[in-house]
Amino acid sequence: MGRLDNKVAIITGGSKGIGAAVAERFVEEGAKVVITARHAEEGENLAKKLGEDKALFVTQDVSQEAEWKKVMDATIEKFGKVNIIVNNAGIGEYADAEKIDADNWNRTIAINLTGTMWGIHYGINYMKDNGESNSIINLSSIEGLIGDPDLFAYNASKGGVRLMTKSAALDCARKHYNIRVNSIHPGYIMTPLVQNLMDTDPSVKDHLISLHPVGRLGKPVEVANMALFLASDESSFSTGSEFVCDGGYTAQ
Ligand code: NAP
Repeated sequence: MGRLDNKVAIITGGSKGIGAAVAERFVEEGAKVVITARHAEEGENLAKKLGEDKALFVTQDVSQEAEWKKVMDATIEKFGKVNIIVNNAGIGEYADAEKIDADNWNRTIAINLTGTMWGIHYGINYMKDNGESNSIINLSSIEGLIGDPDLFAYNASKGGVRLMTKSAALDCARKHYNIRVNSIHPGYIMTPLVQNLMDTDPSVKDHLISLHPVGRLGKPVEVANMALFLASDESSFSTGSEFVCDGGYTAQ
């Protein structure tokens, strides 16, 4: 018996990194998953690997509202319902307050903040009447809890995700919808996103490791296991909360 038997999950940015690990863990625990991303190849390969009866890939840019409707309808058509949304798609680019430009700012806010906003909005509307227990999980970051001078727009987007999560959780609670909404705050996790940051400067790796008291970066599966707990009914009394997964980074 799996911890997500009979659940249907949408995982945005599920083609690689943390999102791919979440998709794999969810399927291992009995869920059906719809994974999305802008580029098809990696996501389609992952869906094939997970099994066509258990996984579907749909192309999506989370910042575009019309593409949310497409993803929701494809999920209902293939699996009949939605119980879980993991708003995971996100980008991270270095830029400080002095050097920020409109492109960096608009791209980061559109994907990380507006994309998550649509995921919450569509999630609530497609889940509220399904008669089952539901969970929306938003990938914020330690950068949604503390400031980083090199991540000006990213800080803004992830801080926004943190408080948007609480507003949506309270809205669902007061309306007695069976939908919980929580945020996850990872430290640095070894994924293509962090690899790209490291590629800009090889000394970044040692610096990033030094920020985590446990002396290493995180693994995608370590975040996926937290998402699994929040997606399952094991977390039935948790809503509007922040779940940190950071090797002690923010304990300092
Ligand atoms: P990643 O390795 O770069 O993967 C990002 C995923 O999101 C890819 O599947 C990417 O596919 C997709 N994506 C990007 N923009 C998209 C868009 N507009 N619409 C739909 N999909 C989009 O990133 P990651 O490190 O796994 O990070 C996942 C999430 O965790 C992000 O929200 C990130 O901010 C957060 N996080 C990561 C870390 C970390 O250290 N890695 C720490 C804290 C928080 P396409 O490019 O094909 O669209």
